[in-house]
Amino acid sequence: MRVLLIEDEHHLREALRRGLSEAGDEVVGAATGPEGLRLAREQVFDVIVCDILLPGLNGFQVCRRLREQAVWTPVLVLTAKDGEWDQAEALDAGADDYLTKPFSYVVLRAHLRALARRGARSDNQGADLMRWGDIVLDKRAHRCSRAGRTVELSNREFELLAELLASGGRAVTKSELLERVWGPGFNGDPNIVEVYVGYLRRKLDAPFGRRSLETVRGVGYRLAPDEVD
Ligand code: CA
Repeated sequence: MRVLLIEDEHHLREALRRGLSEAGDEVVGAATGPEGLRLAREQVFDVIVCDILLPGLNGFQVCRRLREQAVWTPVLVLTAKDGEWDQAEALDAGADDYLTKPFSYVVLRAHLRALARRGARSDNQGADLMRWGDIVLDKRAHRCSRAGRTVELSNREFELLAELLASGGRAVTKSELLERVWGPGFNGDPNIVEVYVGYLRRKLDAPFGRRSLETVRGVGYRLAPDEVD
């Protein structure tokens, strides 16, 4: 695995570089935001580890610029527990995952492996962090946001949205949604799916002037491509 490590603290950078190299990874270090950005653009990496407080450009700015320039290498951001920034901001900036310092080396490697396996913006299947346009669903933190604003969802709404995100724009039938979200033993009115899609539209589409939750007549639902209404 080829890792770009953007970290200005020399000791941490060298410790991580040593540890990852011993495990067989190739690590390229960068000590500033601009240097990291340049390396990420010029070379190919399986995964990028990026600190937040960095000279030149901070970790959020690095993530944003990478995504603006269509560099989709998975980014894991290192956040500080008592820091001014939080994990939500990291995800909104385009990071794929985060770890809070101090973290165990074993956990870091597990996260990096998972990110590298998932690859650069494949689909949302099986991911902790799901995206559709500016919608971000963080399954680990059970948090949903759109355009950087938190959207409060009930558990059922959350699960329903996760199913739609997992389908990556393909239509999902009502009976599939019913089975996956309400469970195979559900005996109630199948129109419950429609009711909950309505709830989601009210929370996730209407306040943002969007129509992402599309009805596919006679089939079910799908997420529409991200367009401003
Ligand atoms: Ca730092």
